[in-house]
Amino acid sequence: MNYAPNSAAARDIANVLHPYTNLRKHEEKGPLIITKGQGVHVWDDQGNRYIEGMAGLWCASLGWNEEELIEAAVKQMRELPYYHGFTHKSSMPSIDLAEKLKSIAPADFSKVFFVNSGSEANDTQVKLVRYYNNAVGRPEKKKIIGRIKGYHGVTVAAASLTGIPLNHKSFDLPIEGVRHTDCPHHYRYAEPGESEEEFSTRLAKNLEELIIKEGPETVAAFIAEPVMGAGGVIVPPEGYFEKIQAVLTKYDVWMIADEVITGFMRTGNMWGSQTFGIRPNTLSCAKQLSSAYLPIAAVMVDDPIYQAIADESKSIGAFGHGYTYSGHPVSAAVALRTLQLYEERNTLAHVQAIYPAFQKRLKALADHPLVGEARGVGLVGAVELVADKPSKREFAATDGVAAQCVEFAQAHGVILRAIGAGAVTICPPLMIEEGQIHEIFDALEKALDDTDGWVN
Ligand code: PLP
Repeated sequence: MNYAPNSAAARDIANVLHPYTNLRKHEEKGPLIITKGQGVHVWDDQGNRYIEGMAGLWCASLGWNEEELIEAAVKQMRELPYYHGFTHKSSMPSIDLAEKLKSIAPADFSKVFFVNSGSEANDTQVKLVRYYNNAVGRPEKKKIIGRIKGYHGVTVAAASLTGIPLNHKSFDLPIEGVRHTDCPHHYRYAEPGESEEEFSTRLAKNLEELIIKEGPETVAAFIAEPVMGAGGVIVPPEGYFEKIQAVLTKYDVWMIADEVITGFMRTGNMWGSQTFGIRPNTLSCAKQLSSAYLPIAAVMVDDPIYQAIADESKSIGAFGHGYTYSGHPVSAAVALRTLQLYEERNTLAHVQAIYPAFQKRLKALADHPLVGEARGVGLVGAVELVADKPSKREFAATDGVAAQCVEFAQAHGVILRAIGAGAVTICPPLMIEEGQIHEIFDALEKALDDTDGWVN
């Protein structure tokens, strides 16, 4: 594409190094420049309106013009635009937010550590695993097990926990001390005739074998998203977490719940841990914590972990971890207001009232000739496009079929996301209305038909 020399697109291509983008393709294709948003809609610089069917990156839960959040930010900016939490300092928004988060958490957490992103949260988890086990005199117990297709971010340690080749290849990752176990995707990886329950039993057994092979005295933690998001919205099979957790308990392996996407009602309960019966020792959350209006994320830890790291910090001199912007007062004030708005507006009841319509339309797509599986929970879902339905044969990554389907959906006014060769994901703002859910699926149906024509 030839853009006018001084156009925004040409300036983007000339100056911006884009995350998660095929950079050579970007030089040709250029950017979609979003200039404003309102409710569930965003507009591009050509004046085209879209429903943001992914809430941005699974995060803008309250949509694009929430005045209450803007006001909370402005008020806090005026009062105290910045302070930090190092060396015994504190500020009111982080105190209020930590207290609030603990009160709604899915487990009895003792303390909240603030960071700026999901990746930083999971990097912190890795450091806590190390610090804790050194503190309790088990320096050999440090390994962390993630899962194939799990997504935990992109910093060096978080990307290592991630089980997606794109995040490892050419970055010389993963780092030492990280292992990956099976992806719990029944449709793809179950043996012929294997029930969900049997599949879960087999995966738990494989996990146990991995722990035994590594040496239980070396395995410290297991990290999992309640529903895999960036791996393609993979909902755990029947009985999965119950069986996995029995193995973790047996070998004294702590459970890290990565609730960066699932936290704050995405799966139809406040936490994915509640939807799937997970009992976390520590938890990462981000994204919908502030409806994405400002960067903020958090790690919550249980009391035994807190007590051990507190003792260690005393003997070393300080807990030598923290960010300049940990608990940034403006981000924390916006997050606190977000959590209040969820309560004041009864967002949970809203989500529970509308997600059946979302799931019904989603599951109906399984009848489409291109769709091998339509899967989801709450207000998140995906369709998996396959080259051949009976054999579940995948398209080649180079075919770009899912990406093409997303392009078609965009032409029909809905922004979705392609993951890998075949998955198209849907994750709208939580405040979406039922009629808008139907608009998303109407557009996706048209896009699937367009894609069918394009493929065949
Ligand atoms: N964990 C999960 C489950 C995520 O989905 C993401 C991002 O999508 C992350 C961690 C990383 O978060 P961030 O992009 O804020 O670093």
